[in-house]
This record gives sequence, structure tokens and C-alpha cells, in this order.
Amino acid sequence: MQKQIFRWHKQNNRIFFWRFNRIPYKIMIAEFMLQRTKAEQVEPVYKKFISQYPGISALSKAKLITIRKLTSSLGLHWRATNFLYASKYISNNYNGRFPKTRKELLNIPGIGDYVAGAIMAVCYNNADYVIDSNIARFINRYYGFKLSGEIRRKKIIIDTSKKLFRVKDQRKFLFALLDFTALICKPIKPNCNICPIKKGCKSFK
Ligand code: SF4
Repeated sequence: MQKQIFRWHKQNNRIFFWRFNRIPYKIMIAEFMLQRTKAEQVEPVYKKFISQYPGISALSKAKLITIRKLTSSLGLHWRATNFLYASKYISNNYNGRFPKTRKELLNIPGIGDYVAGAIMAVCYNNADYVIDSNIARFINRYYGFKLSGEIRRKKIIIDTSKKLFRVKDQRKFLFALLDFTALICKPIKPNCNICPIKKGCKSFK
């Protein structure tokens, strides 16, 4: 199934500015911005933010009010504190360098399970698993688990994500899966008829 998703993605790759690097700082900033916000809306803010704060050192010295202004169009004001506290934490505890384990990443303010997994996959190609609500929904449908509620945290979803992410290039696979769940296996009215993996999908049957 991974091969089919990779094949589909060759024709359907969404191009976003932050996808062209493997720098943990840039991936963290993008993922903070992408929380509950559409990628298209994030792109101009992300570009401005990165040119103003190109790394941990610059961001850790920033003023909260300036970060708030810069990110205000994305809404959700708590984001501004995440940017600042995360950069200060990395600066103080790791001398400005990102840690390389999920466990350590999870100690950084604002970094939750998904962002930690995304950094591990995109930057280090060493994620045990990656799960956000879209990936969890796709797994639930494809394997016909019929789970409800907070399915991201369920063991069977995590275990299945671990199997799925046993691929050579986790970064490519994550981007393919994110695009697939945004364009085909959408939350409402999934495009099952044009889905390239419908034959293997328990929900389609
Ligand atoms: S067939 Fe439908 S439910 Fe199944 S993976 Fe494809 S889009 Fe999702």
C-alpha cells in the first residue's frame, strides 16, 4: 500500500516552502503554525517568520509581542508563546542544537507527539511512528478498525503507524500521507471512487 501512495504522490505532490529542508528548527516552526490552520494560509507567514528569525538564537531573543504580531493572522495566540519558550528551552538546554530523540523532543514546550514524530521522520528519518488526526482517521478507515473518540492515542493506531513508517524514506512518506489524507481520504466525503488504494480498504468494501 505504501508503494501505491508513493506512486499517487508523484502526480499529486503539494509544494510548500517548508518541505524543501530537513532543518529541525524550520520543521518545528512550520508544524507549530500548521496546528489547526490550513497550509495555504501558513505559507506567507512562515516565509516572513523565517526571514526575521532564521534560527534558534534569533528567535530566543525575540519579544513576545513581536512574535504575536507576526503570527496574528493565524489566530490562536498561544502559538506565540510556544515559539518563544521552545527556542529558549533549546537554547538553554541544548546550546541551540536540536535533540535527536523523541523523548527529548517531547520535553520542549509546545512539541507534542505529532510534531516530535514529524521532526524525527523529516529531519532524521528515524521516527518510530507519526500520527496526527488525519493519519489516524486514514488508518482507522483503511484497516476497518471502527474506532471512535480520541483514536490517535489508541494502541492499535500507534502500532499500525509504526508498521506503515517502516519505509526507506520517512520524510517522503509523511508528505505523501499528509497530501493523501488532505486530498483523497478527507475527513468529510472522502474521494473513495478515485482512491488508488480502494481495493485494499476495508471501509470501501
Ligand atoms: S477507499 Fe475511501 S476510506 Fe478507503 S482509504 Fe481510500 S479514500 Fe479512504
